[in-house]
Parts: sequence; structure tokens; C-alpha cells
Amino acid sequence: MIDLQKLVRTNIRELISCAETKAEENVRDSQHIMLDANENPYNKPFNRYPSDNQTEIKEELAKLKGVTPKDIFLSNGSTEAIDMCYRIFCQPKVDNVVAIEPTCELYKRYAILNDIVYRSVLLDDSFQLNATALLNVCDKHTKLIWLCSPNSPSGNVLNVEEVEKVLKGFDGIVVIDEAYSDFSRLQTFRERLSEFPNMIVLNTFSKAWASAAIRLGVVYAQEAIINVFNKVSGLYHINQLTQEQAIDVLKHRYDIEDWIKILLLERKRMISAFASLACCEKVYPSNANFFLAQMKDAQSVYDYLCEKGINVWNCSNVSLCDNCLRITIGSKAENAEILGILRYYKPTT
Ligand SMILES: *Cc1c(COP(=O)(O)O)cnc(C)c1O
Repeated sequence: MIDLQKLVRTNIRELISCAETKAEENVRDSQHIMLDANENPYNKPFNRYPSDNQTEIKEELAKLKGVTPKDIFLSNGSTEAIDMCYRIFCQPKVDNVVAIEPTCELYKRYAILNDIVYRSVLLDDSFQLNATALLNVCDKHTKLIWLCSPNSPSGNVLNVEEVEKVLKGFDGIVVIDEAYSDFSRLQTFRERLSEFPNMIVLNTFSKAWASAAIRLGVVYAQEAIINVFNKVSGLYHINQLTQEQAIDVLKHRYDIEDWIKILLLERKRMISAFASLACCEKVYPSNANFFLAQMKDAQSVYDYLCEKGINVWNCSNVSLCDNCLRITIGSKAENAEILGILRYYKPTT
């Protein structure tokens, strides 16, 4: 069992008790004359602050994902949720977090920004997790463990038994970033919320949901944790345009299913085509909408692609990714373009 009270920082506990004493919320709807928030009465509908509990989006998501709206918090991109995890649970200069390596770089960035010590444990050479090694570097000041599955830049899903060992063996919060889970077709930890009171799962509208521009992230956790996020978030942090667009996307989700199907077929095609390129050493298997390819000379291929106006990520300086490029699965036409261009690539030496 986790003691959520004890895990939350003392200043956040104070904030929550302040919020509880001043719970005399005004009802804000078009039936009322609203002279309480210093808004301009003109330029409807954008003159008013947006809905602060995003009820409609949460209800749609809850139906779709088989959870209740109380298990959902919406953030300004999952980037904001990552930052909030630090601000809620980690005391600067005192606490630390533990993450896998390599992984998404945002966890480290927000650790530094919040003045929290960031420890990482190297994955094995097939990018798999060893729960015991991870738990061994935790101490009494470790508040969060960061897992990302499917992981970036490696693209693989973490071994489920090892993730379960981490969830059961750690008495702080385990955050599982499932930004790419729509591409894995495997069971997610989001579907197992009721089993793990210390788990936070992150999703985003930026990848499979094709809505990176609106900046919308989704946090799933048991209600006790979600309540803390609700109390801590700024008022009106999800803007009106984003909320409207999110509802539209949720109502047209059949397009999304179709896009995912195409992208998965394209992933298969791209991975086998890459594996047979002369400049490619090895392609790692992927459960995401990108794959990691080890090249004979990543920098030279990267420069060549840049020159042709094709952007990929050269992650050669990332741990375990020596000479690797990370390539996103594009449209059929874009994928055909990069493959065609790489067939004409000539090594520089
Ligand atoms: C893209 C990405 C994010 C950031 O998502 P936003 O919702 O766009 O802020 C977080 N985690 C991982 C693993 C990602 O790949």
C-alpha cells in the first residue's frame, strides 16, 4: 500500500487544504450574468474563460478507454503532466527519481528544471528492463520511477513481468508513459488501473491521435492521485480551442483507427526495406510509429538526407544507440520517397 499523503510534498499538502476551505465555486454558464471574473462581455464565445473540468472530453475518453471520468486528468500536452509529477511529489534538492536509459528526454529535462536528482539504469542490449537493477538504485528519497512503453527511441514494449515487479516492489509512484501504446496492439497498463494504486499512466493526443498542435495530454490514475492533480493544476489550463478540437477528434475516431492500420502496414514495409539497404547495419523491432535503425555511418546518411530535405533524428549520441537513426513512419508517399533516395546513397569514403 502507498501512503499518498506522505508522498505528496508538504507545500502541495498545504495548497490542497487551502483549496478545500474555499470551495464556494460560482456556477458559470450562459444562464448567469457573470460579473465575477473581469472578462470582457463582447467577442463571444472567446471572451469567457473555458470550462475548467472538461466534462465532455473526459466522458468521451472514459467510455472509449473503459475507465471513469474521475480517473482522468487532462494536461497541456503530456509535457505539462511530466512537469506536474515533479512539482507534486518531489522536494527540490532532497528527493530523486529513477528512470531507464535510454528513454524519452523529457523526464531528465524536467528533473533538472525542478532541481531533482535524476538517476538512470541502463537497459540491456535489446532495450529490456531489469526490475531488480532498477529497484536497487532506489532509496528513501526516491519518489518517482519513470518507465516508457513502447519506449523511445528504441520502439519496443517493456517486458510486462518486469514492469509488474517494479510496480509491486516500489512504494513511491511509478509513471508509465504509454504515448505510443495505440501502435502496439498489446494490453496496456492503462487497462489495469484498478490493480495499481501507485501507478500513473500518460497518454497524449500528439501521436496516434494526430493532434500534436492542440497540446493535449491525458493522465490516468486512481481517483486519489487524480484529485491531487486537479487541486494543483492552474485554473483554465486547457484552452477553449483545444477542448473543442479534442471533442471533434473523439467523435471522428474511426479515421484514427484507419490511420493506425495504414501506419502499422507501412512500419512493416519500412523495416524490411531498411534492413536490406546497403547503408543499414541492423533494424530494431518496433511497437511504435517509428523504428530505430543502426547504420554503417549514421552521420553521413543523416547529412545526405538533410541535403535532400528529409528530416530524421540522429540519436547516435544516445546510450546504446551508437550509429542509430530514429525514423518516423510517414505517409505511403513519404516512405517511398526516403527509401528511393536512400537507394542512391553512396558512402563518402
Ligand atoms: C511525444 C512524447 C511526449 C510528449 O507529448 P506531448 O503530449 O506532445 O507533450 C511524452 N512522452 C513521450 C514518450 C513522447 O514520445
